[in-house]
Amino acid sequence: MRKAVYPGTFDPITYGHLDVIKRGLNIFDELVVGVTTNPNKKNLFSLDERIMLVEETVKGLKNITVKSFDGLLVDFAKKENASIILRGLREVSDFEGEFQEATVNRKFNPKIETVFVMTSEKYFYLSSSLVKELASLGGSIEEFAPKVVEEKLREKLK
Ligand code: ADP
Repeated sequence: MRKAVYPGTFDPITYGHLDVIKRGLNIFDELVVGVTTNPNKKNLFSLDERIMLVEETVKGLKNITVKSFDGLLVDFAKKENASIILRGLREVSDFEGEFQEATVNRKFNPKIETVFVMTSEKYFYLSSSLVKELASLGGSIEEFAPKVVEEKLREKLK
């Protein structure tokens, strides 16, 4: 059985993340979305809010669970009995950071493999930051994130 963890900040989840999740579910038997807090990023949503938004977004999908974690990603993967870390790749700018992370994770635990999937080109440019920026300027984010995210963003930015 192939189990993967898909870690991220998800501040908030977008259709780009959902695309990665669906691709992951086509490859792996089970997926754990691991919501974490990156100390280098200032989050708009609390951990509980980010988890709730992921849960609402993946409702109806099978073989998926949503959990929070802190500490090392490889420790979380091990605890979950997952041998794969799933990450999404957008344009080239993602590569450097992802390459560094995957290399460090491999050093920490060589048994855990990082697997990258490319999103649909529709979402190549899409990021949580873009969604937050558009919403703060009063733009519609209908194309980029689920309704529940749009509603929470409006509330938050009021
Ligand atoms: P992190 O802080 O770990 O980068 P994010 O929530 O920003 O957390 O991203 C989690 C993962 O999802 C990363 O692998 C990121 O590259 C990927 N991702 C985010 N948005 C997209 C997108 N539009 N297309 C493909 N991958 C994406």
